[in-house]
Amino acid sequence: MKILVTGGAGYIGSHAVRRLLQNNYKIIVYDSLVNGHKKSLPAEAELVVGDLDDKEKLNKLFKENNFDAVMHFAAFIEVGESMKNPAKFYRNNVVNTLNLLEAMVKNNVKKIIFSSTAALFGYPDEIPISESTKKCPVNVYGRTKLIIEQMLKDFDAAYNLKFIALRYFNAAGADFGIGEDHNPETHLIPLVLQVALGKRKEIKIFGTDYSTKDGTCIRDYIHVTDLINAHMLALKKLLSANKSNYYNLGNGKGYSVKEIIETARKVTGHPIPAIKSKRRAGDPAVLIADSTKIQKELNWKPKYGLNEIIKSAWEWHKKNPDGFEENIN
Ligand code: UDP
Repeated sequence: MKILVTGGAGYIGSHAVRRLLQNNYKIIVYDSLVNGHKKSLPAEAELVVGDLDDKEKLNKLFKENNFDAVMHFAAFIEVGESMKNPAKFYRNNVVNTLNLLEAMVKNNVKKIIFSSTAALFGYPDEIPISESTKKCPVNVYGRTKLIIEQMLKDFDAAYNLKFIALRYFNAAGADFGIGEDHNPETHLIPLVLQVALGKRKEIKIFGTDYSTKDGTCIRDYIHVTDLINAHMLALKKLLSANKSNYYNLGNGKGYSVKEIIETARKVTGHPIPAIKSKRRAGDPAVLIADSTKIQKELNWKPKYGLNEIIKSAWEWHKKNPDGFEENIN
C-alpha cells in the first residue's frame, strides 16, 4: 500500500510517517517545509518539497505514483494568526485542500484521512462532545476545517471520494525520538516545559475565573501515539470498508491548566512559576471528547494518560531544547 502524507514533516504528520513505515506502508511525504522540519523525517522517508498550491507538481506526483490513499495533515493551525490573517488560512487550508481533492479525483485516488479538529465545536452546547454536537466554530481556523469537512462530504456524494475525518482534541507528547516544535509555540504543554528548561521565565495562565473546579480552562489531552494509533485503524478501515466517517478523538478526560502545570512540576522537578493572566479570546471553558464512537467502531483505546504525555514531551524537550535545530539524528 502506498500513502501520500501531506504535512508529513509536521508534528503529527512526522509521527504518522514513522508508524506507517514501521507497518510497512510505502509513503511519500509532500510538505512545503514552511512549518515542517526536514529533520523530523527518517532517512528512508521520501520527501517531495512542495506546496499544495502547486497544482502541476501535485498532479505530476499523483501521475507518477499509484497511491492507495492520502493522509492529509498539511494545514496552518495557529488560531490567533487565523483571526488576524484569514485570507492566508482560507487559501492554505481550504483552497489548497480543494487542489488536493481535485488532483485525487482526477487521478482516481479516492481515499483520504483528514486531520480535523475540536475547534469545529466552538463553545460547545454539551460536554462531552460527540460527533453530533452542534458545529459552530468561533475562529477562522475552525471554520476552515468545517468547510473542508463539508467539501469532503460533497466530494463523496459527487465523485465517490471516501474520507475519515479525525477531530483531534489537544494532541501532545512525543514518540520515536521526535517531538513538537512549533514556531512560534502557542501550546500549553510545550510552553510549560520551556519554562522548566529555563527558556522562559514563567507560564501565563490565560484566565482563572472560568466556571471550572479551579477556575482555569479544561482540555482533553491526547498522546500523539494514541492519535497515530487511531490514524492507523482509520486507514485500515477506509482501505477495507470504503465508507466515509467522522470521529472525535480525545482521551475523554479533562485536565485544567493548573493541573497541567502541577503535573509538569512533578515530572520535571522544576518549580515552573505561573502567573495569572487575562482570558485568551475564543477559549471555551471546557472541551472534552466523547470518543465512544471510535472506540466502538474502530476498536481504538487510548493507552496513555497525562503523566506519560508530559513525561514523553519532557524527554524530547530536554534532549532537543532548540527543537529540530540541533541534536536530532
Ligand atoms: N494556555 C495558557 N497559557 C498559555 C497557553 C495556553 O493558559 O501560555 C491555556 C489555553 O488558554 C487553553 C489551554 O491552555 O485553555 C490549552 O491551550 P492550547 O493553546 O495548548 O490548546 P487549545 O486548547 O487552544 O487547542
